Order: sequence, then structure tokens, then C-alpha cells
Amino acid sequence: MSYDKVEVPEGGEKVTVENDELQVPENPIIPMIHGDGIGQDVGPAAQKVLQKAAEETGRDPHWMRVYAGQSARDKYGEDVNLPDETVEALREHRVAIKGPLTTPVGAGFRSLNVALRQTLDLYANVRPTYYLDGVPSPMKAPEEMDMVTFRENTEDVYAGIEWEQGTEEVEKVRNFVEDEMGFDETMHEGPIGLGLKPISEKGSKRLVREAIDYAIENDRDKVTLVHKGNIMKFTEGQFGTWGMEVADEEYPDDEVFAAPDSLWEEQDEVDIPEDAVMVEERLADAMLQWMQLRTDEFDVLAMPNLNGDYLSDAAGAQIGGLGIAPGANFGEHRCLAEPVHGSAPKRAGQDKANPTALILSGRLLFEYLGWDDTGKLIRDAVEETISSGTVTYDLARQREDAEKVSTTEYAEAICDNIEDLA
Ligand code: NAD
Repeated sequence: MSYDKVEVPEGGEKVTVENDELQVPENPIIPMIHGDGIGQDVGPAAQKVLQKAAEETGRDPHWMRVYAGQSARDKYGEDVNLPDETVEALREHRVAIKGPLTTPVGAGFRSLNVALRQTLDLYANVRPTYYLDGVPSPMKAPEEMDMVTFRENTEDVYAGIEWEQGTEEVEKVRNFVEDEMGFDETMHEGPIGLGLKPISEKGSKRLVREAIDYAIENDRDKVTLVHKGNIMKFTEGQFGTWGMEVADEEYPDDEVFAAPDSLWEEQDEVDIPEDAVMVEERLADAMLQWMQLRTDEFDVLAMPNLNGDYLSDAAGAQIGGLGIAPGANFGEHRCLAEPVHGSAPKRAGQDKANPTALILSGRLLFEYLGWDDTGKLIRDAVEETISSGTVTYDLARQREDAEKVSTTEYAEAICDNIEDLA
């Protein structure tokens, strides 16, 4: 397709799909959104590190700047937050990386992040949470954390089906729910906001399937389905039921073992086939406790959208906070890498923010392209930089022995380490 304000980098080739397989050239075009707020700091810094690691391992990515949020308003006009050509660039090139985008609270436009995930049907948000040597953590044994969360990305209360208080629509929905569905004494009198929580068989099963396949491929022991099905029986509870059906019906027992009654009974006594991945259920509130008290017992977590948002941030805090935590969204032959953190407006434009989360998100993207050696080099160079005490402000304030450096200096230090380690 031809673009208006986006420059297509010369000499790059597209990532494509043939016979249901991703075809990755050595010189792929990778669309990149630097992002709002601290995105203007961490975006360019991460791009530099990713480029360096790719070059050192014999690859030649061609970055294609595309725009969303403030950068789109600057380029396309005040009312354009997510230009069509940005969405098209992401659709056409299959892989991309983005920094954070600001969402106004209460009123204003809907989340651009959510819009992108829904439009491109990026149904799984995957966040690996692992400890890097030298990162300050509030936990006694942060190195016990090695979890990967799979968060359903297209439905739940994030689907955006909601009605504002005081509108004709909200009264219509209230009347329907009260008069026709029989919930006539459930809602309080007076102004009210209402929303829907759709959880479908399709959305639940494909997410859980993805988590189980990941566990099998990466030699993990357990997949935990995290929900609040004791209260929200027909949405969260059904997510658990459909998830267990996938485990039970779609894989042989010696490969995947669906633990019976795992919500209410300890599984220590259960006889699990050797080498099988165990799939169990846990309630979300208890899970937040177990994650801290029995960190090493968990491996891969799969959950509906809202639980996934909360739990993955909390898991990130255990290994050093949002500046570190990477993520990526996956769909059918698609990957959009993005850090867990937001645009942190208070720190924007000060060359202070930590680009690690975006850099490690780029590592996930490279691994999706099959560039595992590039990914490993990035991880090793980041770890070397942090453990030697060169860190940004967020980690420096928790470590007495550290040297506090700017975003730019930190990225340069990682590039030096990439060169040394390559
Ligand atoms: P946030 O993640 O932006 O910031 C919370 C705090 O975490 C910051 O004040 C800062 O102290 C720290 N922090 C976060 N990232 C950091 C980094 N890279 N380096 C150092 N410190 C860092 O969360 P928020 O304040 O709740 O949200 C701000 C905006 O970001 C909102 O508009 C929100 O909608 C948006 N947001 C976007 C995404 C996304 O783009 N995927 C995700 C979350 C929030």
C-alpha cells in the first residue's frame, strides 16, 4: 500500500505468511511507534539498542516510524489519534513495536492500546516476568520469579461496551435489565454507569490453548488459569471451565494433565504423568497472595483481561517494577511488542526514564522472528549493564552502590556491552 505521511524505509522487505508459516527476511521492515510521554525518551533509546544487537548478530531490521497519540495529532491534525495508515502499516507488516500511549481517564477518546489490540485481533498479551541480576526488589528472593502471564486481550470489561450515566442509552439498558431480565432490586436508584463483561468460548479457548502450547514448547511444568469464578460464575467461572476443557479434550493426558478440582483441593497428592504440563485453576484474589508467598510454584498463568492487567503489573513489581517489565501482543501470525508500563507523563521528555522494558519487549519481537541469538545478546547486555551498577533513576534510588545515568547514557552503556559480548 502507499502511505501519505509514513516513510517506507528503502531496502527492507516485508515479513509475510506462506503456507501458514511466518517468512522472515534478514532485512525486515518493522513499524515502530515511539509513544507518548516517556515514549519520546525510551523509544529512540530502545531503537538504538535493538539495532545494535541485530547488527552484531548479522541482521538488518528496517525501522518504519508510524504515529499514534500525540505524534499522530502533531502530524495529521488535532482530532487524529490513531491514523488509518498506522493501523494498515501494522496489519501489512505483521510485526511491530510500540511505546506507551496516553489514555484520558473518565472522558475523551478510548484507549488506543485497546483499539489496536481489538482491530488487529491481537488476542494474547504475553508478559514474561523474570529476575535480572542487580535489579533492586522488595522481595527476599526475587530470583524465584520466572512466570509468563497470558492475558486475554479482546474482551471482558475492556471490550468498551459501556454506557455513560445520564444518557438515554444507559436508562434503556437499565430498564431492560430490571424489567425484562428480572434484576429489579439489584441496582441503586439515581444516576448510574453500566458496562458489559463479555467472555466467549472462542476468546477463552484460544488464549488457554496459546498458554498451554507455550508451556509445552518451553518445557514449563504448569499452567494456572486465574479467575474469579466463585463470584462471576457465568463469565470468569466459564473461562475456567472452557480452559479446563481445552486441557482435557485437546491434548493427550501424558502431554497435558487437567487437574481435577484444583480450585478446592491441594494437588500435592495428585498423580501427574511424568513430563506432562499440569493445568489447574486458582481464584484471582488468592493468586495475588500466592504469587508473593509461593513465587517459585508458578510458571505460566492464563487469565481474562482485567485479572491479567492487575496480576502482571503486580508480578512486575516483584522483579523491580514497571521500568523493567516487557510484553508483547500476539494474534494469528502477528506480534506487537510493547512494555507493560504507561506514558508516565511526570517524567516525560527529561531523558530520565528506564528504557529496559521497551528494549526487552524488542527482545520478544526478535524471538518471534526466530532471532533467539539476538534476543539472548540483548538480555545478557542489559543484565551486565544493570549488575555493574549503571542504571536509570528508578533503580538508582533503590541501590546505594549504583551510578545514576540518563536514558541516553544507559542505552549507550548497553550498546557497549553488546559489542563486548557479541
Ligand atoms: P505508568 O506506567 O505510566 O506510570 C506509573 C509510574 O511508574 C510512573 O509515575 C513512574 O514512576 C513509573 N514508571 C513507569 N514506567 C517507567 C519507566 N520506563 N522508567 C521509570 N519509571 C517508570 O502508569 P500510569 O501513570 O497509571 O499511566 C499513565 C498513562 O499511561 C495513562 O494515560 C495510561 O492510560 C497510559 N498507559 C498506557 C499503557 C500502554 O500504552 N500500553 C499502559 C499503561 C498505562
